[in-house]
Amino acid sequence: MSIQLFVPTFRIDECLEQIRECLEKGWTGLGFKTVELEENWKKYTGLSNAHFLNSATVGLHLAVKILKEEKGWTDGDEIISTPLTFVSTNHAIAYENLKVVFADVDEYLCLDPEDVEKKITPKTRAVMFVGLGGNIGQYREILSLCRKHNLALIIDAAHMAGTRVDGDIPGKEADVVVYSFQAVKNLPTADSGMICFKEKQYDEIARKYAWLGINKDTYQRTTQVGGTYKWKYDVEYTGYKYHGNSVIAAIGLVQLKYLDQDNSYRRQLAAWYDDRFKPFSARILPVPVNCESSRHLYMIQVNNRDELMLALNECEIFPGVHYQDNTTYKMYAYAAGTCPAAHEICGRVLSLPMHLRLTKDDVDYIADKVIAYAKQ
Ligand SMILES: *Cc1c(COP(=O)(O)O)cnc(C)c1O
Repeated sequence: MSIQLFVPTFRIDECLEQIRECLEKGWTGLGFKTVELEENWKKYTGLSNAHFLNSATVGLHLAVKILKEEKGWTDGDEIISTPLTFVSTNHAIAYENLKVVFADVDEYLCLDPEDVEKKITPKTRAVMFVGLGGNIGQYREILSLCRKHNLALIIDAAHMAGTRVDGDIPGKEADVVVYSFQAVKNLPTADSGMICFKEKQYDEIARKYAWLGINKDTYQRTTQVGGTYKWKYDVEYTGYKYHGNSVIAAIGLVQLKYLDQDNSYRRQLAAWYDDRFKPFSARILPVPVNCESSRHLYMIQVNNRDELMLALNECEIFPGVHYQDNTTYKMYAYAAGTCPAAHEICGRVLSLPMHLRLTKDDVDYIADKVIAYAKQ
């Protein structure tokens, strides 16, 4: 049997029970379960606001767009971001005609504060921080830099559902935190995400933008507004169709219930990998983790990544690479050479299978093969 990088797990009966409620009520759209998930997410994270969307990509777009408009940024202003990320992170900046300025990564493969500071110019408006694999990296130092230079801070927390630092969910100090509940993330639904603005007023704007710019959603109109003017609404913005729906939120509600338990098993898997690789630190280097990570990823660095990948594939093990250095993509090629550490790492890094169906025996089997084929 083959071992895949990611296999999502669903408590199927519980999910179907939640979905059944939507179908019986006859409410599958925005509202109902989406509201319940937002409330539960705020309770779980301690973040002040949460709006459920159809992906993290659109959440990142709204984050950049709303900050740009509300803070009066102009086209060509700069946001500092990482080259080691899924391309959504950086596209969100480009959608708004802002320039992605790439800063290099540190040993955690997250933004390196020293290089971030070097890349600040009079046009810099924000930093986009990605907690790669669920790790926190030097987030605190990045936060201090943002305060010192009066920059906004956006967290792409696509990998960070349930990540804790000193027992607490991080991100409360950031302007906005965006989570992904995409099909293979550590809180998988099918496709969805959550945008969590610090400011209530930005959350309200996000709700309008996510539904075509309309200032009153259908659920509010159905359940809350009395009188004969239920049908009447205004359109304040050229908004988008970005909001989430109740069927997907229904799955999210069940997944959230098990998030801590699931992440704790991920950390167990990571600990098993770590133990096996410890004696081989000269040629297999696990990417260090400095918090109670969601462990969306288990990453190692090796000298012969491509060769090792092929050898593992021969053994029916299918790892992944997170990520290709974004400055090697055609549209970000203007920044080629600006992040040498990230560039080097992207030739060495490998993500080993990490999901809830793996057993200790699977980890041992994978580790045996990595140990056998990783070269000095
Ligand atoms: C998956 C991912 C996204 C995009 O999430 P979607 O919900 O699929 O839009 C953004 N950033 C990172 C780092 C990701 O891994």
